[in-house]
Amino acid sequence: MLPEDKKLMIYEQLKVVFGFEAFRPNQEPIIDRILSRQDVFAVMPTGGGKSLCYQLPAKMMSGTTVVISPLISLMKDQVDAACANGIVATFMNSTLTAREMSDAHQKLRLNEIELLYIAPERFVMPSFLETLKNIDISFFAIDEAHCISEWGHDFRSDYLRLSLIPEEFPDVAVAAFTATATLKVQEDIIRKIGLRSPHVTRASFNRPNLFYRVERKDNANLQILRFLKERPNDAGIIYRTTRKSVTETADFLVSNGISARPYHAGLPPEERSANQEAFNHDDTRVMVATIAFGMGIDKSNVRFVIHADLPKNIEGYYQETGRAGRDGVSADCLLLFSNADIPRLRYFINQIPSDKERAVAMGNLRQMVNFASHNSCRRKQLLKFFDEEYPADNCSTCDICTDTTEDVDITLDAQILMSAIYRTGQTFWVRHIVDIVTGANTKRIRSFRHNKVKTYGAGKSKKKEYWVAIADELLAHNIIEQSDDKFPVIKLTHEGSDLLFGKKRLTISRKESAKVSARSDDLKHYDNLLFERLRAVRKEFAEEQHVPPFVIFSDKTLHDMCRYYPAEESDMRKISGVGEVKIQRYAAAFIDEIKGYLDENPDAGENGAQFADVDYEIKPRQKKKIGDSVEVTYALFKEGLSVEIIAGRRSLTTSTIAGHLELLIQDGRDIDIDRLIDPAKRAEIEKLFITFKKWNLKPIIEHSNGTISYDEARIARAFLRDQLNFL
Ligand code: ADP
Ligand code: ZN
Repeated sequence: MLPEDKKLMIYEQLKVVFGFEAFRPNQEPIIDRILSRQDVFAVMPTGGGKSLCYQLPAKMMSGTTVVISPLISLMKDQVDAACANGIVATFMNSTLTAREMSDAHQKLRLNEIELLYIAPERFVMPSFLETLKNIDISFFAIDEAHCISEWGHDFRSDYLRLSLIPEEFPDVAVAAFTATATLKVQEDIIRKIGLRSPHVTRASFNRPNLFYRVERKDNANLQILRFLKERPNDAGIIYRTTRKSVTETADFLVSNGISARPYHAGLPPEERSANQEAFNHDDTRVMVATIAFGMGIDKSNVRFVIHADLPKNIEGYYQETGRAGRDGVSADCLLLFSNADIPRLRYFINQIPSDKERAVAMGNLRQMVNFASHNSCRRKQLLKFFDEEYPADNCSTCDICTDTTEDVDITLDAQILMSAIYRTGQTFWVRHIVDIVTGANTKRIRSFRHNKVKTYGAGKSKKKEYWVAIADELLAHNIIEQSDDKFPVIKLTHEGSDLLFGKKRLTISRKESAKVSARSDDLKHYDNLLFERLRAVRKEFAEEQHVPPFVIFSDKTLHDMCRYYPAEESDMRKISGVGEVKIQRYAAAFIDEIKGYLDENPDAGENGAQFADVDYEIKPRQKKKIGDSVEVTYALFKEGLSVEIIAGRRSLTTSTIAGHLELLIQDGRDIDIDRLIDPAKRAEIEKLFITFKKWNLKPIIEHSNGTISYDEARIARAFLRDQLNFL
């Protein structure tokens, strides 16, 4: 363990260089070990803050930190981000000109570089090894370390040569990082690199800022369009399985006025990288891609990831959704699920020659289908996949935990659909059957004379999407089944016949979307008009410096500015993500923009969070007037109702009700706090307020990495303040 004064220095650097108040879980012990020159192996989820774990020691230690990173395309952004915080960083790879390369060599020899990024192939070049041997190296960091394991999913043979590091540099410590490693892969990585009794960290796979939702797919493109229209300023990724569907969806979106670009392995490399760059630089809002769009994405402000087709396995789904919300701001993950997608995937799996691999692939698909169709918390299911138990009953950030359901009897409509299947000989696929019941006039219908079938047009009062959804329900309930073909045909099962001939009825539970999403909650907490203006300022700087906007400031940092309206440099320093170098470079421009905005919108700042909160002084809070709506909440709470029930009854969000309770506590009303927060958790929150010596909620929430919610923190704060006022 490091001595106390060193610890203080770490915190100081965290604030000065990166502008952060507190470490994310696991960062501090990792940095502590690196500074003590011990080997480290860390699994941290995407967005967990791996880069800070090696960038901060790189800044503090003498000598150069050498980072091995698999993708040349990522290095520039990483270096730009480090430089933006005032770290002397560079990369050496084939994209440099001869001149730039010799400059970099020169600086390296003069020990002027704090952080050097290279690809593994450069590391093993004898001449380069020689150069490294003649300089002072603080430590090696290996990014995406799972690439060394054949068991992992991105194996790269170049990585195997990294075992040279401990052989050639026996006195230099190595820190290996990855976002994905089962225990088996972990062992493999440690052994293959040759790490020496490393400090091993496995962080939780939980991504508290991601909201998971599964929606029944009836018309993917329209569903996507609706989703995008609800959040007109957010950027995100849409995954589709085939190149053709990628192109179709991208074209569809563009023709509907959405700025979208395609990405798949069939596009020429220049077009692919131009599209990726446009996405990174906020020049295009939506990337429609196959899973070829992967590891190279380090854009931190991806606000949603949509899977428009069923992924092949949970691991892939987790990694792909994990690309959303790296900056810690909430983000949405939407999966459009249809049972009709399954046979196609099965068909491809059936082409796998090895029995063993085929069985594994089928098993993976089954897990994925269960995830999408089971009625249990999505977060719990995902974490279970990684052998992790999610502790709470309700995660409050997935559709299962937030939506209500109602039972609907669909017997009649099921019979209409099944009759069409039955009367056409059980040899057609879903879409054709839906055409029959909606009375479509297609070539196929005419040629088979299906317009003469009794149920032709029987369901035309309802939309096609409705019937597709009914068919999907029937598949889910095993009322009908489909063959494992590329174009599967459907037929009735035994249970299906019972239903068709009226021997039983079918009731399904239909989800009533609570219209909650990660974003809808988030938007309430900052001034979005100001955000748009600050975004434009950020974009100008980014263009001037040829870096992606998130390198200047993350979305999270801008949101904080839109909550606190910093008016001076000293205020800016209190914003998360604003270090000293960024103060010098950008503070004035952003403060100006905020001032301009407040001049034009004098009321805007009134609801802003107060910097006065910052000092940990005990002063009586100004009492706010209690309105009628708050009184209603008080009465219901006194009746013994829970926050959720009160919110439900009044059609308000739980967050609004929590806000009411906060006011009531401040007003000195008699509120039984134990009904609101578990006493142990409250004690933990109180301890944090006292440790941080500040009343703002942000550091507490950040520190907890999602285990403490905004509402819990503010209620605990109100209560603690109230008690302190009594003392
Ligand atoms: P990873 O490489 O693990 O996916 P990053 O290193 O890209 O994650 O970090 C994700 C985001 O979290 C970045 O925007 C980074 O600035 C931010 N971040 C990292 N550490 C902290 C911290 N201690 N407090 C607040 N934000 C942090
Ligand atoms: Zn849940």
